[in-house]
Amino acid sequence: MKRRAKTSIEGIVQGVGFRPFIYQLARRNSLAGYVSNTSAGVDIEVEGESEAIERFLAEVRSETPPLARITRLDTTYLSPAAYGDFHIQASVAGARSALISPDVAVCEDCLRELFDPRDRRYRYPFINCTNCGPRYTIIMDIPYDRKWTSMGKFEMCPDCAREYHDPMDRRFHAQPDACWVCGPKVWLVDAEQRPVEGEPVERVCRLLEQGHIIAIKGLGGFHLAVDAGSEAAVSRLRERKRREEKPLALMSADLATIGRYARIQPAEEAQLTDRARPIVLLEKDDPEGLIAPSVAPRNRFFGVMLPYTPLHHLIMREVAAPALVMTSANLSEEPICIENDEAVKRLAGIADYYLFHNRDIYLRSDDSILRVAAGAPRLMRRSRGFVPVPVFLEEELPQVLAVGGEMKSIVCLTKGNRAFLSQHVGDLENLETLDFFELTVGHLKRILEITPQAIAYDLHPEYLSTKWALAQQGVRLIGVQHHFAHIAGCLAENHAKGPVIGLSLDGTGYGTDGRIWGGELLIAGLKDFRRGGHFRYLPLPGGAKAIKEPWRMAVAYLLAAFGKEIPRLPFLEGADPEALRLLPEMIEKGINSPLTSSCGRLFDAVAAMCGLRTKVAYEGQAALELEQAMAWPPEPSAKPYAYQLGREDGTVILDFLPAVRQVARDVQKGVSVQEISLRFHLGVVEGLAGAASALREECGIKEAALSGGCFQNRFLLTALTERLARSGFKNVYTQAQVPSNDGGISLGQAVAAAHILRSGH
Ligand code: ZN
Ligand code: ZN
Ligand code: FE
Repeated sequence: MKRRAKTSIEGIVQGVGFRPFIYQLARRNSLAGYVSNTSAGVDIEVEGESEAIERFLAEVRSETPPLARITRLDTTYLSPAAYGDFHIQASVAGARSALISPDVAVCEDCLRELFDPRDRRYRYPFINCTNCGPRYTIIMDIPYDRKWTSMGKFEMCPDCAREYHDPMDRRFHAQPDACWVCGPKVWLVDAEQRPVEGEPVERVCRLLEQGHIIAIKGLGGFHLAVDAGSEAAVSRLRERKRREEKPLALMSADLATIGRYARIQPAEEAQLTDRARPIVLLEKDDPEGLIAPSVAPRNRFFGVMLPYTPLHHLIMREVAAPALVMTSANLSEEPICIENDEAVKRLAGIADYYLFHNRDIYLRSDDSILRVAAGAPRLMRRSRGFVPVPVFLEEELPQVLAVGGEMKSIVCLTKGNRAFLSQHVGDLENLETLDFFELTVGHLKRILEITPQAIAYDLHPEYLSTKWALAQQGVRLIGVQHHFAHIAGCLAENHAKGPVIGLSLDGTGYGTDGRIWGGELLIAGLKDFRRGGHFRYLPLPGGAKAIKEPWRMAVAYLLAAFGKEIPRLPFLEGADPEALRLLPEMIEKGINSPLTSSCGRLFDAVAAMCGLRTKVAYEGQAALELEQAMAWPPEPSAKPYAYQLGREDGTVILDFLPAVRQVARDVQKGVSVQEISLRFHLGVVEGLAGAASALREECGIKEAALSGGCFQNRFLLTALTERLARSGFKNVYTQAQVPSNDGGISLGQAVAAAHILRSGH
């Protein structure tokens, strides 16, 4: 008996080869009907034998093309309409709420063609198909159609056009499709913009081998590339880029090569080869000394990625180097460069050569960074390859824009049960980044068709994002406390509602009492929170200066722990003597010494006391080096340092002064940094578990959530999750899809504001 089924599909089903997939599936099952793009996704009608329809529908789910993602599929049965054949219908205009695919690494089929001398795209640096290539970074507007992408200016040659219009071809409706004849090109120039003779890829490889710094235009922006094996080249890059300490990302041709200088666990291999191609943090293991020491000094990890554009593959196959440093081309903390002219201006004095191309990048997007910790892959920077895939929420929410914080800024827009997080915008400390922030907000509102009913912002009055939000008119403005936003984001990602005991640990966030919070135990749900406990307040002598100079925080802790006569630890030699002399008085009189409950600053103080660092080049560096210095693998019998729990107006006060006293004595006794670091970490875990348990007994809440930049500390995350489970917490929520650092707070802001909005308060 003949039947007709109408199926509506939502998800990422446009621009990913979905209609030709349906076309081929329908024909294989001898079904008539049509498939068409709609505003929400794709509509399909199939007519034929019942069995064939059932098989077809099962195959739609089981054989979905690689880039497609079905979030909803509804089928209804209708009376037969006597369709003669199966065809692809032209798109319905104004298809806007369909999801856009992220940028994806070149696929296996395209790679095979890239290196096949008989293929017409042999060695063509922009080869792509419906299963791979650029998306988000080249889309100016929707519907996703070539004319609304930066490929619009390239007119297809007859060969490409034939593929584009053939439903049986892998390049059917592949919007960025191009070839040597009709598509974008690469070219090489020197620092004075003079063209360099020869085949560009081959020339670039020789120049890299000679130690030159090359600016390479990629998918989401420019990279600066150098031979990672050459200490001279890497140091020169650091010097010129003024990025003195932060680890630099590496790219190698394949897994086997990476395996020569780093350990790859199976879960990490899966992430390295994922089509999002993030930078994955891998434990160093470099017996041959392949990688120059200054790539990632004082760090047990390398950040490594595999090639993801055809151009990368061409270079990585040709170059005689085990790895290239591939770092975002910008001065530290400025947005990544995307335009050719812009690159020349901003990279003058840094790059020796420029490998340009003329496929414009509409929206810059940095490489994403991921690591596997406590049994799960966790994003530390969510950008290229992940954006704009939404985080799916438990329930439908009103439309809200959340502007994030200041550091590692990411904005978030909600629509239905989806939270769309932007690419990494950067540290919102300068006008370049603010411009990029505004561009991103406008772009996402447009392509996602979102009209926010409210804007959520951080309470810190000095954040540029806060100032921007407060200047917006005709829309409700909702301030969301920083550490609560961390926890709400963690809950939202886990489809949890709370209430939980949220452990929100980071360096800095503006508190509701005007003080600088950062070691917080919050009783929190999705809408509001109560501060159940926090680290003991201590002065932050010199304010922002104390973040750059951890010795100041160490002295503040020592003064609190020992009184005026602080032990003369060796690190004090590294402090500015005049500043050191003035510090006790500054603290005593409360001059430029705001109070803070920061967890990050406690780590800074201990790192400084151990002599690791008196000054840092970037936030969190001292804490990171303290973690990296830990005896590894950790000695199970090591004894945690002590802590103390107190109460102030019903709030639990977690006090680590006992631990600080022990650290000081151990430093004086000459105990190794490895051991001090381990015992300190164990003490922090015990203290947090103790405080959380005290709160649990008081309020009966048996679920916990962990968030905040301090959970980038792998040991803290792993050990605390286990410890809380052992001490009777039923669920311990942690983040994976969204960073636990400030890159994740816009999600929490958005969800909290949406709940506040909905409750009518
Ligand atoms: Zn492909
Ligand atoms: Zn062509
Ligand atoms: Fe934070």
